[in-house]
Order: sequence, then C-alpha cells, then structure tokens
Amino acid sequence: MENANEDQRTLEAPDLVETSDDVKTYSVQQREALPGEPLCIECGRFGEYICDETDDDICSIECKQKLLLRIKQPKLPTKLAPHPVRLPATDECIYVQADNAKSESRSLTTNQTESIRAKFEIAVKGNCVPPPVLSFAQCNLPHKLLQNIESAGYEIPTPVQMQAIPAALKGQSLLVSAETGSGKTASYLVPIVSYCANFRKEVVTVTNQKKPLVMVLTPTRELCIQVEEQAKVLGKGLPFKTALVVGGDAMPKQIHRVQAGIEMIVGTPGRLIDLLTKYDIELDDISVLVIDEVDCMLQRGFREQVMQIYRALSQPQILLYSATVSVEVEKMASSLAKEMNIITVGKMNKPNQAVKQVVIWVESTRKKQKLFEILTSKQHFKPPVIVFVGSRLGADLLSEAITVTTGLKSLAIHGEKSMKERREVLSSFLLGEVPVIVATGILGRGIDLLLVRQVIVFDMPNSIKEYVHQIGRASRMGVEGTSILFVSEENKNLFPELVGILKSSGAAIPREIMNPRYLAASLPSNKGNRKRKVGF
Ligand code: AMP
Repeated sequence: MENANEDQRTLEAPDLVETSDDVKTYSVQQREALPGEPLCIECGRFGEYICDETDDDICSIECKQKLLLRIKQPKLPTKLAPHPVRLPATDECIYVQADNAKSESRSLTTNQTESIRAKFEIAVKGNCVPPPVLSFAQCNLPHKLLQNIESAGYEIPTPVQMQAIPAALKGQSLLVSAETGSGKTASYLVPIVSYCANFRKEVVTVTNQKKPLVMVLTPTRELCIQVEEQAKVLGKGLPFKTALVVGGDAMPKQIHRVQAGIEMIVGTPGRLIDLLTKYDIELDDISVLVIDEVDCMLQRGFREQVMQIYRALSQPQILLYSATVSVEVEKMASSLAKEMNIITVGKMNKPNQAVKQVVIWVESTRKKQKLFEILTSKQHFKPPVIVFVGSRLGADLLSEAITVTTGLKSLAIHGEKSMKERREVLSSFLLGEVPVIVATGILGRGIDLLLVRQVIVFDMPNSIKEYVHQIGRASRMGVEGTSILFVSEENKNLFPELVGILKSSGAAIPREIMNPRYLAASLPSNKGNRKRKVGF
C-alpha cells in the first residue's frame, strides 16, 4: 500500500498493527469519499491508498487485508472473454464471438435486426454496424464486469447501449446521439472497461509502467466527476484505474495519480492541455478517445483544444457523444475519423418525452414573484428543484432571495465557485439538505441528478438545444418529471423553434407566444393553432 509498509504479520493480525499516523488501520477511521475521489474497493469509503498487490483503491489496512483474503480464496471461473472477432462480412453482417460460439453466437437476420432497431427507435448510418444486443451477456464481456453491471442495477441494456456497445467493442468509431438520461455514459464505459481489462491481461508491460489506454473528454468538471464515479462502479475489481484531470483541483495531485499507472483519464480539455504541456505524459497507448457532449464543446469554443489533444494521440478509435447533433458536430466527426458510423436513438434534438413541459408568460420584472409563488405552492413545488439562470451573479442573488423570501434553503452553483464549493453544494443537494439549487448552464449537461423531478428555467438560454438539455435534468431513465419555463417578449427570437418543440411534445403553448408578430416570419401558416390555457 502506498505510504504503508506493513508486513505479512500485520496483515494477519490487524489489531496488532503498528503503523505511521498517516495510514488508517481500520475502515471506520477513514472518512467518506467526496464526489470524484477514489472509493475503497471493500467498503466504499475514501480510497486513500493503492494496494500494491492488486492496484485497487483501498481505505485502510483492514480493508487491504479483507481484499487479499478474498482474492486468495478459490474464485469462480473468471476467464475473460476473448476479443470479439469479426467474420468476413456477408450481406447480413454476421457478428460472432470467437469463443463459446455455441452459446453466444448470434446471427440476426436483416429483418430481425431491422425490427429490433425500429422497436427501440435506433437508427444507424455507416459501414457494417453490428446488430443490437438484447442483453449484456451477449457482449462477451469480462465476467467481473458483468457482475459489476448487475450490482449497478443494470438488468438490461438501454436502447443506446444495445447498439453502441457492440459497435464500440468491434472497434468502430461512432457518433452517437441519444436523449439525456438514456444511459449513454455506460454505453461507452462498458466497452472501455472491457477493453482495458483484456488489454492488461494480455499485454505484459516490461517496465511495469502502466500508460493510460483511454481518454474521456467532457465540457464540465461536474460531468467528468460523474463519468469517473460511474467508471469506478463498472471497473471495480478489474485492472481499471482512473485519473480525474479537471480545473479547480491541485495539478500535482492529478499528475501523481496519472503517473502512478492508470487506465483511463477523464478530463476537461483546458486542464488536460495545461497538464500535457507542463508534464511529460506518455499518450502513445491511448487507443480510445471519447468526447462527450460534443456540441457543447463546440459551443463553448473548445474545438481547437480538442483537436490539439487529438493530434497528440496516435489515431485512436473515436467515440463522440451528444444529445443533439448539428452540422458542425458532423463536420468535427469527419475530421476526427475517416470512417465514422452514426447511431441515433430516439428522435434527434427533441426533448425527453418523460418531462412534462409547462411554459409561462412572465414579464421579467415579475419573474421572481412567480418563482416564489411556485416554490411556496404545495401543489406546484416538487423538490428537489433546479432553477436555471443565465448568469453567475444572477445565480448567487436569486438563491439568496429564495432563502430570504420563502424560507427554503437554497444554494447557487456556477463556474466561479471553487471545485470544493461545487462538490459541497451538489452533495448537500443530493443528500436532500437543500431543496433548491440555482444553477447556470454548468448543470444543464449530462449531470446525473437522479432525484430531480422538477426544473425551472428562470432565464431562457440562448438556444433551444440548451433548453432541451436543461429540462432533460428533470427525468432519468424514463421516470416522469416536470419543467417550467418562463418566457417573455425578450425571448421572441426563439419562439418559432420553441413552438415546434412544444407542439411535438403535446405541451400547452401560451397564447402570447402564438402572436403572429413573433411567428409570421418563420411559420408557413398560423391557421389552426388553438389557444390553450397554461397550467398556472
Ligand atoms: P446517463 O444517460 O449516462 O446520464 O445515465 C442515466 C442514468 O441511468 C444513470 O444513473 C445510470 O447509472 C443509469 N443507467 C445506465 N444504464 C442503465 C441500465 N442499463 N439500466 C438501468 N440504469 C441504467
């Protein structure tokens, strides 16, 4: 264990351990892990140390002993599945696993493949994309990874996982578009963990120096933390260590982690470039590059930084993910890989259908008042609630005003807060101590706030895409949620698009928005638009 030099005797008799003050003897002495920190593989507390023998994160000598005892015991057959082998293409694109062919081989007919894709609204474009899988067991994954998937509660793959996992395992570069909350993170993490586990098993490193094998880029620190957390759950007990490279945390700690030997780097482009230019990190083993929320990366002007990182790698497999796909995203995809298959799940650029949208016309001077009315209404307030605003200062001021006026605890989260503060805000929100958080767009992307069922869009963002992302926070995995949007004449530029979105979701449209003055230029005809009453 790093920092610990205990001998065999201490392992067998933890109560006799003599150790430096730095090393925790018992699991109970260790604190809980903060979001983004490594978790002890045995008890889930803060994984402060790395076990020399197994490379696992561990919190104390007690847990190290438990771990070593556990792995000494006869194990279930854990032969990792071999890599899938692609047979010469036929007109049906047969996809067969190399081993265990009898039980695992599948050759769906074109009709079967098409009907499964139609049922789950999966569309594919590209060269020989394998058929979707209906279970994780079909994917020839390492046994331990299958166990981890089960422990995470993932019984069957979600539609995006059905299609993206077999395609990614086959080594294909992909541009994947799926609704927010559809399980897209696991759809790239499952193949990544499988790849790393197989690689470390088969390729012996002479120098014992484990260079990173996979890199995941996301636009925000919060999303990176969340991806890393999910990766730890899926990679538990496998040779799969991760390093978080994001702003706000000390760089030496991050570099130390990378150099200690890891499989996956998760980071934001800015900090990664900073790190790569200041330190000598060997990237030549990186075989898979994931770029999550590509459209957001482009919107935030990260294009050149992403390309700079890409150029430092040697032609990795590319997995691009986004809930929305635009011409710019497609352009970027084609500049990253010669052959890019496209997988679309659900209807592109459409809001999550599980979110009931309510739009209210409110003049800007009355918005606060309206918000307080909602937050103090037994009928309409459904905590925990996220309120989205347009500026950092606005977030601070509004959260204070909420607390003062309604008596509800409210905190702000935005890019000017330190990483530590942001973590604290998120964890008190997730623990239910704070029922309302006021956030800038930082929280609109990908962040998995499982319990949130209500989103209030106080300031309409600059684009409908962003609006679609923000309201997506109100539902995970198809559970119903509600979003409330405040609009006024100030947002008129977005009305034509907004009307389209609301109509396609069957949501009520405030009569003010339907004023021909706002829509005439963009809509072919206003005939037949019925006036409907709004929910408040
Ligand atoms: P994501 O779209 O990646 O943000 O995932 C949304 C949520 O779905 C996360 O909480 C995941 O842990 C969860 N999830 C992912 N895949 C599955 C699955 N196959 N079954 C159940 N839950 C899942």
